[in-house]
Amino acid sequence: MRTSQMLIPTLREVPADAEIESHKLLLRAGMITKLVSGIYSFLPLGYRILMKIEQIIREEMARSEAQELVMSALRPAEGYQSSGRWDVFGPEMFKLKDRHGRDFCLGPTHEEIFAEVAKSTIKSYKSLPMILYQIQTKYRDERRPRFGLMRSREFVMKDAYSFGKDANDLDISYKSMYDAYCRIFDRQGLDYMVVDADTGAMGGSGSQEFMVKSYAGEDVIAYCEKCGYAANSEKAECLLDNEDDIISSESLYKPMEKISTPGMKTVEEATQFLNCDAKDLVKTLLYKADDKIVAALVRGDRELNETKLRNYLGCTELQMADAETVSEITGADVGFAGPVGLDIDLILDLEVAHMKNFVVGANETGYHLINVNINRDFKASAIRDIRTIAEGDICPQCRGSIKVDRGIEVGHIFKLGTKYSEAAGCAYIDENGKEQYMVMGSYGIGVTRLVAAIVEQNNDENGIVWPLSVAPYHVAVVPINTAEGPQMDTAQRIYNELLDAGVEAILDDRKERPGVRFKDLDLIGIPIRITVGRKVSDDIVEYKCRKTGKVVELSSTQAIEKVKKQIL
Ligand code: ATP
Ligand code: MG
Repeated sequence: MRTSQMLIPTLREVPADAEIESHKLLLRAGMITKLVSGIYSFLPLGYRILMKIEQIIREEMARSEAQELVMSALRPAEGYQSSGRWDVFGPEMFKLKDRHGRDFCLGPTHEEIFAEVAKSTIKSYKSLPMILYQIQTKYRDERRPRFGLMRSREFVMKDAYSFGKDANDLDISYKSMYDAYCRIFDRQGLDYMVVDADTGAMGGSGSQEFMVKSYAGEDVIAYCEKCGYAANSEKAECLLDNEDDIISSESLYKPMEKISTPGMKTVEEATQFLNCDAKDLVKTLLYKADDKIVAALVRGDRELNETKLRNYLGCTELQMADAETVSEITGADVGFAGPVGLDIDLILDLEVAHMKNFVVGANETGYHLINVNINRDFKASAIRDIRTIAEGDICPQCRGSIKVDRGIEVGHIFKLGTKYSEAAGCAYIDENGKEQYMVMGSYGIGVTRLVAAIVEQNNDENGIVWPLSVAPYHVAVVPINTAEGPQMDTAQRIYNELLDAGVEAILDDRKERPGVRFKDLDLIGIPIRITVGRKVSDDIVEYKCRKTGKVVELSSTQAIEKVKKQIL
């Protein structure tokens, strides 16, 4: 392709609403454009990258004997109603009605639908295990669409589903998908980790996520270098620091006192004012769990883990209560809630249950209580691990020291069991002629999110540095002066020879200054640039590697051979 004919709408300015590198660079490089929040179109260069990523996925899925098919995105409600997820997805599901008033949705994920298809097409144990997959557009009305392709409302997912006779078949399919995912992400040049994950609304007995390490990641990974433990912080279990030191003697309890703390709303303000540590204070956080208000209590320096709290409560929607609700329930402004005298469920973090003489809000604006103690001053409804693990915490596997990093979830694999096959009545006939439910697994890759994840790990001050395996084109051939015959002729010849050899090349024949063209090519991240300049009279061209910036002078034949060696 000649660049003069291509749609490459690069931008000089960084778009105002783009916060992370991948979002900025994909927009600036003219690879995607935004329609509305969380909805993007792929322009030609971006689409080529997407297709490359899809191709790698297709090849590796085929190697794992998974078969591709495609389902509709527009789905009638029934399948999701039988599994219960019509409600569970809540506002995240895009729902609509047809002209007859019948309920439909735009599929957020397809476990139910694949179970229905397997039910009607797979009859005998002889066909099992089997893996089916699709690469298809998904719709989720995310509460906070952001970071461009990273968390969008319309995105492409590769979703695979395995059907087996029993747990053993599931283990075989799960392992085969795990291995395929490793091959896929390796080929895309990603630095990633596999971590234990929460199964969330999906259900099932276990799951793991593939996390691309990046500061831009929305997930937090807890891992231990000593024993290899790695888990999403949503899931990572928190152990007590010093279980042996806990003395429960009530003789150590001091009398509870109410102290005036005017305007001291935050943990920092209150502890500074009371001259104590955040570890001596307990935060009382009010949550709206579906329609019920509950209080969750964690130590002042800890973070509440909403996933753990949601799992304990078994609710669909969990949100922090708004200021109005807080003052209605506690009788005080936000910042002064406390457990003493509070007539709602109080869920205590494990660690809080072992604290003595601590500080809490007094449920009265401008006041805190000090020397508060559990059982004497209030009763817990439940004591659970509801905090998020932090750097330096005890490893739940070997009691070593936990490290914490950020990651982008690009893949998630689940052992589902029979939850969806039971709901859909998806059964097979076993060797004894008896009906049995199929045992399912589900395996997702965020295909459009991968585009962003690859950019996060492969960029520099000049733009994107695509790994060869996913680059939109391998080589750009650039005649410095497009008006000059010999330069143009040689460039054209190199370009043609590369195309004949099966190399994906572009010829940069734009009538712009070379500096402008070089900047664009660096920004869009073409891995190799062959520049044809004045030395063409001696058959010398420049060969430049985008990643290292290294330039060498070669004859045109040598340059072509070098490209072929790199790419083919
Ligand atoms: P997240 O926790 O990031 O919302 P999820 O657990 O809801 O992800 P899954 O249901 O497991 O995601 O979906 C499979 C894959 O689809 C994810 O691993 C992720 O890569 C991708 N994905 C999920 N939601 C989005 C989104 N809003 N935008 C882009 N990709 C997404
Ligand atoms: Mg999600």
